[in-house]
Amino acid sequence: MDYMLPAKEVDYYVSPTCLLALIRLYESTSLQASTVLLLLITIFMLMGFPLHLLLLFVHSAICSSGQTFPYMTSDVQQVSGRFFDYIVVGGGTAGCPLAATLSEKFSVLLVERGGSPYGDPFILESKQYGFSLLQTDEYTSVAQSFVSKDGVSNLRGRVLGGSSALNGGFYSRASEDFVAKVGWDIGGVTDAYEWVESRIISKPDLTHWSYVAAFSFLEAGIFPYNGFSLEHIQGTKIGGSLFDEQGRRHLSADLLQAGNPSNITVLLNATLNNVIFHTNCTRDEKIARGIRFIKSDGSSNRTYEAYLNQPDNSSSWGDVILAAGALGSPQILLLSGIGPQEHLNKFEVPLVLDLKGVGEGMRDNPGIAILADSRPQNRTPEPPKVAGIADDFKIIIEAGILPISFNATVIPIAAKIAFPESVGKLELNSTDPRANPSVTFNYLSSKKDRAQCVKLGQLLERVVRSESIAFFLGSNEHQNKLMSTKDELRKLCKKNVRTFYHYHGGCTMGSVVDKSYRVYGVKGLKVIDGSTFLESPGTNPMATLLMLGRYQGIKILQDRKDASFINPRT
Ligand SMILES: Cc1cc2nc3c(=O)[nH]c(=O)nc-3n(C[C@H](O)[C@H](O)[C@H](O)COP(=O)(O)OP(=O)(O)OC[C@H]3O[C@@H](n4cnc5c(N)ncnc54)[C@H](O)[C@@H]3O)c2cc1C
Repeated sequence: MDYMLPAKEVDYYVSPTCLLALIRLYESTSLQASTVLLLLITIFMLMGFPLHLLLLFVHSAICSSGQTFPYMTSDVQQVSGRFFDYIVVGGGTAGCPLAATLSEKFSVLLVERGGSPYGDPFILESKQYGFSLLQTDEYTSVAQSFVSKDGVSNLRGRVLGGSSALNGGFYSRASEDFVAKVGWDIGGVTDAYEWVESRIISKPDLTHWSYVAAFSFLEAGIFPYNGFSLEHIQGTKIGGSLFDEQGRRHLSADLLQAGNPSNITVLLNATLNNVIFHTNCTRDEKIARGIRFIKSDGSSNRTYEAYLNQPDNSSSWGDVILAAGALGSPQILLLSGIGPQEHLNKFEVPLVLDLKGVGEGMRDNPGIAILADSRPQNRTPEPPKVAGIADDFKIIIEAGILPISFNATVIPIAAKIAFPESVGKLELNSTDPRANPSVTFNYLSSKKDRAQCVKLGQLLERVVRSESIAFFLGSNEHQNKLMSTKDELRKLCKKNVRTFYHYHGGCTMGSVVDKSYRVYGVKGLKVIDGSTFLESPGTNPMATLLMLGRYQGIKILQDRKDASFINPRT
């Protein structure tokens, strides 16, 4: 069996990210569009870039660029020194619905380190799915790559919309068991899911490959067939999708339009350095007062600040809410002086609170993948639309068509362990907020996970040997091979363990935040995103993170229904 991961092949192709970077450069300069485009076309033609692809790209860039909203800015001066009722850090999957909901009643600042997704065909078009993941750079690409200390390559979103701007868009709710375990109210959760779904989720258009994937899962014994369902149920199902019938991605950033635009300010291309605290001397309490941030392009070391409104006649005011994801939120807490004291001392970060749980409980669902066809082809990329939920919910399997370069695709059939025992941790690498923190997931360090991985391998082998895949490919190289022994599978798991991109933890509920998502030991600071999860919910986490932003936003509105509001000081 060929367990190779789709390798990151870089061929003659000139980086699409590079093209986009140049177009963004144009957006931030006063050059005329026509001059820049002419220059671009000339440069890339001279470099041998295929003309038809270049024209297609330029066309989509022109058609969609300039779509922006009045509440978005990249001008730090417009925000510096201002006061807001709430400050949400991270315009990602949970952050956007949260900010939109809070803006119904309060003034909200949403700070995002990346730029706008609107205008980027590699983000927005289903047939270009995966291109945004191919080439990454240290500080500007929409996908930021990182390699965990285990040696496994991984990705995180760096753009408004967060990881919902680059992911497979597969949408599946959490189970009622999960909702009960976390202690959410099922009525509120259902309302929040529906709010999200009515705005950005579609029933996907099924392609030839989607049918083949569904049939191959059934052939491998993943029963029953549940058709289209948003629920987390055993068997083979078609899930919801961020991509609509026209193949256009909707993302969490679209949800901002459901808020009150006159109450939201979205600051793009600004990276949070740290939360600012002040001390209430009479009670010896640390209270979040605002944030300190820098420009993401690193063009200067200058820092800027924005603050929370604190009405003189009220003891109740808003919060700084971190929604920077499973890597971003623990990193920000550490840079703000909240975390294990010894670790903070090493980086000379002044201590605010010795909170041991920050950075602990990092988990990633280990997975393995088998290429259905080991020779790359030139198919249209396709995000996964079908999931197999097997072995009493313990195994999730999916299959899309992924580009490995601009003109080559592979079909990895990938499965993940839904509830890994193995756990790792996150620590600072440096005090630069733009740099990746250091993460260890300790993949398959638990015996139970290793045994589960063998089961994953057996299931995947049954899928790739199916008649359905043989029919789709015209022949099936896997059918002539013997099934691997358990020992062979153990070795393959160890060698080929990969991510499903569903990593979570770092600010887990019970050790860093309480049931209301408040950070223990300080006031005015919450974390609402995937870093709070003890386990990844549902088949895939995105649905629950979108829901969580809305659900917690509504909770805050309800808790503060008597609050006076919109009282900006500047
Ligand atoms: C390649 C890939 C494919 C995936 N496929 C699927 C799928 O098909 N279905 C599914 O359900 N899940 C999928 N996932 C997982 C899912 O997308 C994530 O679990 C989820 O989006 C995480 O949401 P979040 O709100 O916790 O973080 P994010 O959505 O990552 O948001 C965090 C945001 O915070 C910003 N940020 C971080 N640090 C700072 C800072 N210091 N200052 C300012 N801003 C900051 C980031 O730029 C980002 O926008 C995939 C993930 C990836 C990477």
